[in-house]
Parts: sequence; C-alpha cells; structure tokens
Amino acid sequence: MKVRIHRGASEIGGSCVEIESQGQRILLDLGRPLEPDPEADLELPVINGLRVGDTGHISGLIISHPHQDHWGLATNISKEVPVYMGESASRILQEAAFFMWGQGIFHPAGYLRNKEPFEIGPFRVTPFLMDHSAFDSYSLLVEADGKRLFYTGDFRAHGRKAALFERLVSSPPPNVDALLMEGTHIKPESSHERKGPTSEEEVQTELERVIREATGIVLVCYSPQNIDRYVSLFKACKKAKRELVIDLYTAAIVAATGLDSIPVAGWSGIRVFVPRKQCSLVKREKAFERVNHLGTARISQKALAESRERLVMTFRLSMAQDLEDTGCLSDATVIWSMWEGYLRPPAGAAMRDFFLKHGIHPQYIHTSGHASIPDLQRLAKAIDPGCIVPMHTAAPERFMEFFSHVKIRNDGEWWDV
Ligand SMILES: [Zn+2]
Repeated sequence: MKVRIHRGASEIGGSCVEIESQGQRILLDLGRPLEPDPEADLELPVINGLRVGDTGHISGLIISHPHQDHWGLATNISKEVPVYMGESASRILQEAAFFMWGQGIFHPAGYLRNKEPFEIGPFRVTPFLMDHSAFDSYSLLVEADGKRLFYTGDFRAHGRKAALFERLVSSPPPNVDALLMEGTHIKPESSHERKGPTSEEEVQTELERVIREATGIVLVCYSPQNIDRYVSLFKACKKAKRELVIDLYTAAIVAATGLDSIPVAGWSGIRVFVPRKQCSLVKREKAFERVNHLGTARISQKALAESRERLVMTFRLSMAQDLEDTGCLSDATVIWSMWEGYLRPPAGAAMRDFFLKHGIHPQYIHTSGHASIPDLQRLAKAIDPGCIVPMHTAAPERFMEFFSHVKIRNDGEWWDV
C-alpha cells in the first residue's frame, strides 16, 4: 500500500490523501484550502482520474466529514468517481446547498457507518464515528496488502460525543502501521490563542451564565452546522428560561441530522425567524413548504422586538438589516461562539463594523473542534502505531516534541506504509 498526501502535510485545510494498492487508487478527503476568499476558483490536485476525460480511474473518494476543508473541491470532479460519506453528513450538505451556493450536493455510492467495514477493490475501509464539531465525522482505518493505515480525520475528545473517543482508546484497532494524525493544536511556537472553555460542557455553563445576566436580546454567532454547539445553546436557553430563535437555514440543518435527540422546529423553546433574504429565496425557488410547515413556531419581526428580553437568537451578518429595522439592538448582548480568527480582517471586518456601529462588545465563549495535545497523545499511545505521520497542522516538525516514531512526509511525496 502506497500513500501520498496531496495537501495538508504542513497546513490546516485542503486535506487530500491518495492511497494506491494493486493498481487501484482511493482518496481520503478532497478539501478546499482555507483561503481568505471563499469564492476563489481553486485548482484540483493533480490526480489522474479526478477530472472529466482523464485516462485514469479513482475507485472511491471517502469524505471524512462535512467541513469544506475536507470536501470543498469535490464538487468539481468527474461523476465517474464514487463518493462515500456519512448519511447525515450528506443530508446536511444537501440542505446547506439550498441556502448557500448550490454546491455540496453529492449522490454517495455508499454511506459510512460506525465500525461497519466495506470494500473498495483491494481496500477494506472501516469508519469510526468520532467526536468533532462537524456532525457525522469519521476516522478511517484502511487495510490493503497486509498493511494498516489509520487516518484520524478531524476529531476531539471534549465535545458532546467524547464517549466515542473514549471507546476508541479503550479498544483501538490493533497492528496499525501508520497513523495519519491531525495536529491542529500543534502550532508554531509564535502563535497565541485566547484561552476559553476547555469543553463543550463548560461552553454550555458559560452560555447560561451570560444569558441569565443579559437584559435585552442575546445574539449568538456560531456555525449552525456545529450541532454540538447548537445543543449546548438550546440547553443553556432552557436553563435560563429563554426561547431560542433560529433562522430557516439553522432549522433545515438541525432537521437534516435525522436524530430524534436534536431539538428542531416544533419543540417547545424553539422559534424560527425567516429573514428577508431567506423569504426571497423561498419565493424564488417556490419552496413554500419550508416555511408553511413552521406553523406557530414562526416568529415575526414585531414579536422579536416585543419579547426580546425573553429571547436568544442565532445571528449572522446577513440578518443585520432585519434586526436593525426592529429596533431590538439597543440593549443587545452578543456572544461570539466560534473561532476568534473569523473576526479578524479581511473576512471579519464587516462583522466588527456592525458591532462598532451598535456599541456592542461581543463576549467570547468557544471551545475548539480539535483535540488538545494531551488527547492526541492518548490516541497515539492507545494505537501505538509503527509510525505517526503529521497532517492538518501548521507545525509538523513539532510533532517530534510530543510523540515518538514521527515520520514527516511532504505534500506530493509517495511513501510505502
Ligand atoms: Zn479540517
């Protein structure tokens, strides 16, 4: 079994790994690099079989989880490439596509299911459901030619599904030759990041505290695809005795999880606001059932203003005008519940201007979607692989400080497992 990392050996974003055995090839992830410009046209990696008209054939592309840095370039590939991903992940991307750029609709050849191995040519692939900020995320064990490679994808051990990580370290796959491990938190020594809550549980406690102290409406900026965070927020609202207002996009994403335990429109304590831009989209696409089924869960602009001291609202800049028109921002509290880097210019400039205009100082309550260094060490110790290959990190050379048997591989370099 031969492997080459196309992108991600020394950066976070654009993850793509090619694996070859007996003349057949599969890919793990085909992500978009983290570019400042989300509209930028980016080239596919040079892999024979990805483009329409190529002479080669790719036997399968496995997408570990529904984050753009793992699937973002897969929308432009030849339809001949069979795509595999989680079933909920596929539904979430399909729903998101309605609201975003129409991108991200896949017709998977097969779905990943926890610990259910499947075969693609000479490869046997076993997905392991993992704790991560994206819903339906998997690590992948790939076996071929008597060798075993474990690709962690992105994971953490401090989210709402931490039990998945604990199960993996208590009964890890044996005899792994190469561990391809993410190292988001293994950073260059010069980097500094703000300290925040260290677990999703702490995030929920902090959210509840700030909501209880607020006098007006509480706006929360977070990614609706971060289902863990959405559940933390819902639970904090319940405890603080406020209703959670979500927009139509968030309502669609949480429903797409397909899990009975995830709060959706229709549950007590959940209201849905349809901002003007989403109203226009629904009309343009004649997708009226998206709004009609909301019934009494829908909240009007007027009701938002009148009951603002009893509400917590999912907020994105695209709804700023709707809220400004209601006049409910004068005593608003804002919680920034995602990576603080998204507030930095250039991408974060418009949001900062909005805060400045309304005299708002956002409160930062966030925990990372990625494993801490001690948790990475726990996984490495449990799996005890022949070698550890750094990925999804800005500082591969620093892996040596924390792990033994580290083998740094460069983008584009073929190596034997
Ligand atoms: Zn990632």
